[in-house]
Amino acid sequence: MSVNSYVVGFPRIGEQRELKKVLESFWTKNCSFDKVKKVASKLKKRHWEYQKEAGIKYISSNDFSLYDNILDTCIMLNAIPKRFRSLKDEELYFSMARGNDSSVAMEMTKWFNTNYHYIVPELSLEDEYKLNATKIIDEYKEAKKLGIKTKINIIGPLTFLGLSKRVDNGDVFELHSKILPIYKELIQEISKLDDEIFIQIDEPIFVKDNDSNLLNLIKPTYDCLANIAQNIKIIVTTYFEHSNEATNILVNTPIWALGLDFLYGKENIKSLDAIANSDKKLIAGVVDGRNIWINDIQKTLLLLTEFSKRIKKENIIISTSCSLLHTPFTLKYEEKLDEEIKSWLSYAWEKLQELRVISKIFFEGVISLKNKDLIHYEKNIYANYSRRSSLRINDKKVQKRIKEFKNYSRQGEFEERIKLQKELLKYKNLATTTIGSFPQTPEIRNSRRDFKKAYISKEQYEKDMKEYIDYCIAFQEECGLEILVHGEPERNDMVEYFGEQLNGFAFSQNGWVQSYGSRCVKPPFIYGDVSREKPMTVDWITYAQSKTDKIIKGMLTGPVTILNWSFVRDDIQRSEVSKQIAVALSDEIDDLQKEGIKIIQVDEAAFKEGYPLRTKKIKDYESWAVRDFKISVSTAYKKTQIHTHMCYSQFNDIIKTIEEMDADVISIETARSGNELLKIFKEVGYKQEVGPGIYDIHSPRVPSVEEMKTQIKLLLEVLPKEQLWINPDCGLKTRKWPETKQSLINMVEAVKQIRKEN
Ligand code: GLN
Ligand code: ZN
Repeated sequence: MSVNSYVVGFPRIGEQRELKKVLESFWTKNCSFDKVKKVASKLKKRHWEYQKEAGIKYISSNDFSLYDNILDTCIMLNAIPKRFRSLKDEELYFSMARGNDSSVAMEMTKWFNTNYHYIVPELSLEDEYKLNATKIIDEYKEAKKLGIKTKINIIGPLTFLGLSKRVDNGDVFELHSKILPIYKELIQEISKLDDEIFIQIDEPIFVKDNDSNLLNLIKPTYDCLANIAQNIKIIVTTYFEHSNEATNILVNTPIWALGLDFLYGKENIKSLDAIANSDKKLIAGVVDGRNIWINDIQKTLLLLTEFSKRIKKENIIISTSCSLLHTPFTLKYEEKLDEEIKSWLSYAWEKLQELRVISKIFFEGVISLKNKDLIHYEKNIYANYSRRSSLRINDKKVQKRIKEFKNYSRQGEFEERIKLQKELLKYKNLATTTIGSFPQTPEIRNSRRDFKKAYISKEQYEKDMKEYIDYCIAFQEECGLEILVHGEPERNDMVEYFGEQLNGFAFSQNGWVQSYGSRCVKPPFIYGDVSREKPMTVDWITYAQSKTDKIIKGMLTGPVTILNWSFVRDDIQRSEVSKQIAVALSDEIDDLQKEGIKIIQVDEAAFKEGYPLRTKKIKDYESWAVRDFKISVSTAYKKTQIHTHMCYSQFNDIIKTIEEMDADVISIETARSGNELLKIFKEVGYKQEVGPGIYDIHSPRVPSVEEMKTQIKLLLEVLPKEQLWINPDCGLKTRKWPETKQSLINMVEAVKQIRKEN
């Protein structure tokens, strides 16, 4: 008999990324769609079976997707943008996701504060929505045939609307009355499938600070949806933060259960009494769905015991905090990870086992544990103990240094610094530069890989990298760029490169997590106190500087970006980890400038991504994120020019924070929006220098000199030439050499002509 255990959703890409492989093969016309469907069925079956074997009681269907669940919801509602309406089936589906020869893809954006991207629905008042329940019904039947009665996952109507955009410029919630009837119909259809069916309706939008407009819709929506059929039990699920405002409304609707995240939304505890009084079930998210650390089972049991003092035990169901989509698959293929570190980890499959052990003990007592589970429990206690006490995690020297570290900002005010820098560096107005990386060629990728596998010697590898740097510098000089870079050939990834050299980081072989569509990322793990063993970039940067009389800009990744693109230890505060990274980087900057490097860029590409979902928590995040950027550059001399780069265009809400970071120069992504997004810099009287990207690096298209001149003129309408730098939008590593060369040549030419005209 399975006890009350629940999984919000399971990853679908496959433990060997089977789905990725078959999709990409289909897209390149190397296999049929039938093959895709076959692989998909195999994966669904395997994932259901894993959950069943682990004794999970509530297993989902419709958590699977060939691309994205929000896109699936668009198909379910027939919310199809006009430009795709002549297409059908898989051609329609993948064209919406990826575009085709005649139509651009739908927009994609980050799912709350995760690194998963969903497809943004495009809605309009004139569109007719109608139900297409095929996928949902088929998946339920598919599982049932295998002997598994699933709960059905669907994206809630309010979250769907909240994440959509109106192509006819109205309020998305105005479409509520058009969408809700489709959901009603869907539930009617589902109700015909079985005697009793559970539907999990995901409403993560409830964890934001919502206005009354949205909150007022909750009760009518769920009064309606939960009243459609007697045999339907509705679970409303939220995650990533607390959703107390919504919970207080939902307890007064006829839904069956509330799914809440008690790890990233600890404040949900405040809703326990309301839930108890309503006699609703509580799906208690206590196993981390977003991180890779083992559960502290003893601690979780204590928390659950607390819950059970207020909520009847039979009303508690033990769950993951969110869908396991955000964790890698299984530790089974991790053959190279250090055994001790591995004992601290738990991926999706391992989390299923944790859920079983926790729920068995909670509902039936330790005594009920079978041998295998008893061993699991004992190992868990031991691993948590070793995680707390291991010297590999706790580095007293680092802890002492961090505690005593008081160097919170660099010397000199901006005005004083920039004067010195301009005298010394002698760059012109509208100085030209790039963001750091140049095209990553198959040759350098192979060389890095072969060196890693010890197929080639260190000498050979260094020779290859230096050849690239030589080539890259020669090109930059030839085309007339003014501030040069070394091109980053030695970096596979801007976070991994630093993680590999810092203490406290580990890397997995198979820790892939879906980022969007078939794309996966493999974030590093920060498991222990972070410190720098020795200089990380100095050799490459000084080598580059030795090859030119022009100024080389050194390249580092900032603390907050390293943090936001890693799996971060959960035994100390994130802000503490970030500070450790910052201190390590401050040493690197000092070493670089001592070796004669005059400009150093500290990239904070992921600064904005780390923003909390609740406004109340933003101040705290901003204060330590800014603190740690400033710590990283605190060693910089007044005359060392500090640049930063952010891959965003929207700065309106964070402009003051960016200014506080006090970088001498910031480069940003603006090419696709003319000068609109730069205006905020002027509005607030931003004083530091700015390099708004003047061409989009996401496309191989080469913009003409004229086009770039137009773009520069637009920028000059907003900010004076003394304050502006000219550069592309972002790094060039995904581009090819020919288009990169031509674009930069045009960029430099455009600046030349503008300088003459002015
Ligand atoms: N310096 C990095 C590069 O050019 C920055 C990348 C980024 O912002 N994502 O590749
Ligand atoms: Zn960028």
